[in-house]
Amino acid sequence: MTATATLSKPAAQTSQHFDVLIVGAGISGIGGAWHLKHQSPETSFVVLETQESFGGTWLTHKYPGIRSDSDLYTFGYRFKPWVGAPIASAEEILKYMGEVIADDHLDDHIRYGHAIKSAKWSSADNTWTVEAVRKADGETVTFTTNFLWMCQGYYRHSEGYTPEWEGMSDFKGQIIHPQTWPEDLNYTGKKVIVIGSGATAATVVPAIAADCEHVTLLQRSPTYFIPGRNENELANTLRELEIDETWVHEIVRRKVLFDQAAFTKRAIEDSDVVREELLGGVRAFLGPDFDVDTHFTPKYRPWRQRIAFVPNGDLFQGINSGKASVVTDEIDRFVENGILLKSGKVVEGDIIVTATGFNLNVLGDIEFEIDGKALDFADTVTFRGMMFTGVPNLIWVFGYFRASWTLRADLIGDFMARLLKHMKAKGAKRITPALRPGEENLPRLPWMDPENFNPGYLMRGMHLLPKRLNSPDWQHTQDYWAEKDEIPAIDLDDVAFDYK
Ligand SMILES: Cc1cc2nc3c(=O)[nH]c(=O)nc-3n(C[C@H](O)[C@H](O)[C@H](O)COP(=O)(O)OP(=O)(O)OC[C@H]3O[C@@H](n4cnc5c(N)ncnc54)[C@H](O)[C@@H]3O)c2cc1C
Repeated sequence: MTATATLSKPAAQTSQHFDVLIVGAGISGIGGAWHLKHQSPETSFVVLETQESFGGTWLTHKYPGIRSDSDLYTFGYRFKPWVGAPIASAEEILKYMGEVIADDHLDDHIRYGHAIKSAKWSSADNTWTVEAVRKADGETVTFTTNFLWMCQGYYRHSEGYTPEWEGMSDFKGQIIHPQTWPEDLNYTGKKVIVIGSGATAATVVPAIAADCEHVTLLQRSPTYFIPGRNENELANTLRELEIDETWVHEIVRRKVLFDQAAFTKRAIEDSDVVREELLGGVRAFLGPDFDVDTHFTPKYRPWRQRIAFVPNGDLFQGINSGKASVVTDEIDRFVENGILLKSGKVVEGDIIVTATGFNLNVLGDIEFEIDGKALDFADTVTFRGMMFTGVPNLIWVFGYFRASWTLRADLIGDFMARLLKHMKAKGAKRITPALRPGEENLPRLPWMDPENFNPGYLMRGMHLLPKRLNSPDWQHTQDYWAEKDEIPAIDLDDVAFDYK
């Protein structure tokens, strides 16, 4: 099945009820549907998705070279073996997700072209009433559900984040954000400036370099990268031994996670050594004469931001070929033919690509109400980054940044299945997280400690996010290696859960 082969099923009626309503058909939402089908087959559910097909991030991003920056043995679901190279293109990820949907007939449950606008909880009925606009005819369709499973990701798909620079209207060429890359953009023989230093910039630059006259990667400050071969030796060996793919997936996954845990520990405890190792990897590609200190030596400690894997060092190969170069400087203003830098130098360009990040959107830009009162998630405290105080029957999949996102989607899938069984056994219609006695007066801290992890979109949007307390139960720790044991062990009869 291809990404576009699964078409939307128009809703026959205008109001329907489901036990669970999943928001979004990205990797989290499709995973959620799989978990319900396998672990809670008696539960009725629907997946509502704004786009016309599944995939989320991997569907909406169309820029050249779009690929994962973490390996698919862990970014893939635990239940569906990944059989390709570790770093995958969006197309390969969509194919994989399409197979998950086809294998279990999940498309019967998905309604594409449904943009959810509001979700209103009624304690009298113990239900959410969800209104979605159906793109096909502009009709507002109403659903009711007992439980909302929020798989809407964490950023706005319709537009990326572009800072306002002086003189932008003076620039005579095109300004493009990778999130809204025009499929017919012609960059052949052109001078292109890519602003940014993250994974997206590192992907776009080598992908277009050969066709452009020249590509300049313009960054204010450098980022850590891990260059390496896009292969997993253990997987190759296991396949040579004709080991079953289910085993290959599980064994390679464990090995990747084991190595990542060791690396993260070292990055925190021994950051100077790890920093030198990372820089050594870059130097090996760029040679002794390249100014790695200026262009590839970040000021922050490794792991405070996500580290992107650069398959086969393609970014560095682009630089070595002379088709790409890197400039580390600040933008003074845009000018007619490019960008004037604070150093006084002008970088010339016909096209400027602003790989400057996302706009965080908390819970899908959906208007939430609880018993007629508008809900501001910033007023709540999060239970483990997945539920919120005072918000009944709602769970959010917010994955990991230092490990693959999907690891958490699977953990939460198991948790949901366990919770639904528990509620059924108890005869409970509602679960609402609540701070325990003695916890109400503890200081409420921002969602994420900037010392721990501080990418721009989180810093810009932190005021919109729920609060955390200084305890593992009341925050998203971003620690897969602790949570893989902690989430399955959550005591569902803890006083932090108020059942009705
Ligand atoms: C270019 C790029 C590369 C990345 N690479 C990696 C990687 O290698 N490894 C990794 O771990 N993470 C990566 N990430 C992070 C990535 O976003 C997540 O890993 C993951 O794909 C998120 O999946 P998701 O299903 O939770 O959300 P999304 O992929 O964001 O999907 C959410 C879906 O919900 C839908 N939706 C949102 N709001 C509504 C609404 N109101 N009504 C109906 N539908 C709605 C959206 O249309 C979308 O289809 C990357 C992100 C980007 C942008």
